[in-house]
Amino acid sequence: DGRVLAQWSRDQADGGWLQRHGGSVDVAAPVQANGAALAELRVQALRAGMWRALGATMAAVLAIMGAALVTTRLAANRLRADVRAAEERTRYLAHHDPLTGLVNRAAFAVGLEGTTQTAREGRLQAALLLVDVDNFKLVNDLHGHAAGDHVLRTLGERLRRMIRTDDLGARLGGDEFAVLIRTPTGEDGARRVADTLVRELSRRITLEGVLLDVSVSVGVALLPRDAQEPSRAMHCADVALYQAKRNGKDSWAMYAPALDEAQRERQDLERDLREAVAASALELEYQPIFDTEGRLASFEALARWRHAGRGWVSPGAFIPVAEDSGLIFELGLALLKRLRTDLDGWARLGLQVPSVALNLSSRQFRRVEQRDRFLAALQELGLTPQVVEFELTETSVFEDLDSDASILPRLRALGYTLAIDDFGTGYSSLAYLRRLKCRKLKIDRVFVLGVAQGGDAQMLVESILRVGHAMDMVVVAEGVETASDQRKLIQLGCDLFQGFGLSRPLQPDRAAALMEQQAIADGRYELASGDTRPAPLFEA
Ligand code: C2E
Ligand code: CA
Ligand code: CA
Repeated sequence: DGRVLAQWSRDQADGGWLQRHGGSVDVAAPVQANGAALAELRVQALRAGMWRALGATMAAVLAIMGAALVTTRLAANRLRADVRAAEERTRYLAHHDPLTGLVNRAAFAVGLEGTTQTAREGRLQAALLLVDVDNFKLVNDLHGHAAGDHVLRTLGERLRRMIRTDDLGARLGGDEFAVLIRTPTGEDGARRVADTLVRELSRRITLEGVLLDVSVSVGVALLPRDAQEPSRAMHCADVALYQAKRNGKDSWAMYAPALDEAQRERQDLERDLREAVAASALELEYQPIFDTEGRLASFEALARWRHAGRGWVSPGAFIPVAEDSGLIFELGLALLKRLRTDLDGWARLGLQVPSVALNLSSRQFRRVEQRDRFLAALQELGLTPQVVEFELTETSVFEDLDSDASILPRLRALGYTLAIDDFGTGYSSLAYLRRLKCRKLKIDRVFVLGVAQGGDAQMLVESILRVGHAMDMVVVAEGVETASDQRKLIQLGCDLFQGFGLSRPLQPDRAAALMEQQAIADGRYELASGDTRPAPLFEA
């Protein structure tokens, strides 16, 4: 009849607002007995607990989201700062050389563009100076790349200290620097700057107790006098730089139109040389080398070029052209063939030929393939260690030693005799001398000249002889011009002699005559069978 029979509640305590307003789920089930309805069972479940659990979960989720938001924000800020720094660094790198902190080539080009324009409009007398470190490769090769970097950094610092704020100093790459003088300069001003640059940059650099001899060459172009366009300005300064190098480095030169003429001539010479090499038109002369008794010990082969227009061009003139143009490799191969031809000619005359020394340039083998090609040619032509020797200048030897393309270890392993040429004029280092294991040492003629007069020349020759002999080397004196010098050299213990005083370089037929003379003097002809005895040649 609607009255409550019994009631139980799990939680009587007042659950607060949530309990009152959180809502509930109600279930009603009839209670029957024998098919008649007796009562109704009602169950009511409050939703408050569920809301509470949900609330806690939501709070946790919110807390996590909040924390994530803060972290993201922090990270984003950090990232933005990093990006900004990277951008700044990139912008800096785009305009600067990281090693020296000087402006780089690209930024310098922009500066030069502006300056040439101002100069063109007649509003400024400016000067462009190109600076090149002399023999930088040698520093790298002798002391390692860290030393090379140290030299470049030091030069960069010195350069930065020297230039005024209106001027622009740059490292264009490698060992090349540039200075743009934008404070009004006349020719005299530019000369003074060039003078100072050479003097201040060419000072010794110490690295961990080692003294590095550094010098620079500088080429100067005036704007607008010499050039009104950036590319022309670079060309003029470059031509002047080349001139400075040719003047013996450690100096500067100013652009002059005549230098363009000289460059054109060099290009012509290079073209003609290329043709001569291709046509195997280069020849060899053979300068005899004698022992203490005046007997022929060997020959040095010297390259000769008869130019259609210029007559004989000396190797002193065309070998550097061949080196600069990379032609030196082909030239070397052509001379191997020429030597083979001359040797064959001598063999037909039945002559006994002593070994012939060929000069090698370090720049002959820039790549491993070139070295291998040269070695293969030696083998193909039968130029064995019994037939040829090689001479290398001190500088080239040192440059070459650690290069992959170096031919020296190969030649030595194959048993070829190696000689150090022009000894005393380059980097003399006893440690290197030891490492090189050359069998011969040729004293440069500047030391030989006047050795008979005693003094410094004699002292130097004596010490070279002592060092050479201590390392089991045969010592050859070059450029022996007088009998008194030779007598002195013999007395000092020198082993072999070469020079105009004994014989000039000889063309192959004259060399043949000398060999024949030698054979007669030795009495070797009595041993040869009558049939193979060659017809006497003309007088040597
Ligand atoms: P070098 O190897 O020192 O050759 C010796 C040079 O001194 C030769 O000049 C020779 O004629 C000269 N000479 C010899 N005796 C005397 C003397 O008593 N007094 C004077 N004043 N000079 C003397 P050359 O033939 O003009 O060669 C000059 C240089 O050219 C050579 O110097 C060598 O470095 C280079 N050279 C010559 N032929 C070749 C070659 O086939 N290959 C390479 N890579 N270089 C070569
Ligand atoms: Ca030589
Ligand atoms: Ca020499």
